[in-house]
Amino acid sequence: MIDITQQMTALQAIQESEEVYRKIAGELRISRDETQLAIEAAALATFDLNPQTGKFKGNDLIKEWFGLKPEEEIELKKATDVIAESDRGRVIEAIQNALDYDSGGHYEISYTIVNPLNAKPKVVKAKGKTLFNELQEPVRLSGVLQDITEQRQDEQRKNDFIAMVSHELKTPLTSLSGYVQILQLMTRKNEDQKLNDMLEKSKTQVTKMNNLINGFLDMSRFESGKIHLQKVDFILNELIGEVVADTKLVSITHEINVLECTPLLVNADKDKIGQVITNLLSNAIKYSPEGKRITVHCKAQNGYAIVSVTDEGMGITKANTLKLFDRFYRVEDKQSATISGFGIGLYLSAEIIERHEGHIGVESEPGHGSVFYFDIPLKKD
Ligand code: ADP
Repeated sequence: MIDITQQMTALQAIQESEEVYRKIAGELRISRDETQLAIEAAALATFDLNPQTGKFKGNDLIKEWFGLKPEEEIELKKATDVIAESDRGRVIEAIQNALDYDSGGHYEISYTIVNPLNAKPKVVKAKGKTLFNELQEPVRLSGVLQDITEQRQDEQRKNDFIAMVSHELKTPLTSLSGYVQILQLMTRKNEDQKLNDMLEKSKTQVTKMNNLINGFLDMSRFESGKIHLQKVDFILNELIGEVVADTKLVSITHEINVLECTPLLVNADKDKIGQVITNLLSNAIKYSPEGKRITVHCKAQNGYAIVSVTDEGMGITKANTLKLFDRFYRVEDKQSATISGFGIGLYLSAEIIERHEGHIGVESEPGHGSVFYFDIPLKKD
């Protein structure tokens, strides 16, 4: 027989757990309301996919974007049908990948929705995460979609503007370059050393400006996917030699050494790879004090040709090395602020190397120097 005291204690325990439950439920409601508010304020569309049924639940916005009736439960197939044909395969692959336990369940992708009920295509950025059960099977994939159409259009306008301005600047610069060359020819026999020096300096500045404008043009071409690689077979060591010789002509402030390595035969875009090496070398010069040594190494390893440029300059902090290859990124500290640049050289270099199925990176110690390196596949026999 349970006595009255035991009954009272049990009752009290039940009351206490009910109290805890009510508190948790209240907090859950608050947090759900807050999430809902944030979703509405940010105009996000939400989705919650059941991998077993292949059906979505979602808010009204996602149904509007995909052109589905409010009461309709979204079928994955129905949703993917309104995704632009050029993006569809990528999206399906990203979902399948996120449902695979080994992927960590991450889902992140941008794509265009071409909904027949909506005149304008919508560019969205999707971000989600898969929940797995203890058997590592996917239970649900949920997340949000953000409308980035405006953002994309702004980027496009900015790119078009940069392309147009660069293009317009090129024409007068080409004439200027031509005139400087003619003047140099005309004054070749002239004894006036000052005049010759000034003309040589003008030529260097025109070349600098030309490289800068070409960088902007390349950037807008990369952004709009209009860049094409013109691959040829060549020995990478020879290209390194040419670039170093050219760099030495315009910069006498640093000691540049090239360490010999076995001939590296590659099939790549020679101009573009030359551009990458030039960029790494000119940065090594720009970001290290006069008189310091710069060393170019090369080697073959695991089917790749590896090139590195080592300097003894100011170096880069760990936090900055992660962002250096982003477009327009420049380190913001007192020392760097005095050195001019636009932060597109490394961005372009990374694009070029990635398009060659290679890798680019940096190792650095602030105050001691940096090693920038890249690899591209060696030509297969
Ligand atoms: P830019 O030199 O025109 O700013 P880059 O894209 O070539 O553009 O470089 C991006 C940034 O990376 C630079 O602004 C600089 O802060 C840093 N950086 C690049 N190379 C080096 C280097 N060798 N040593 C130290 N910092 C560097």
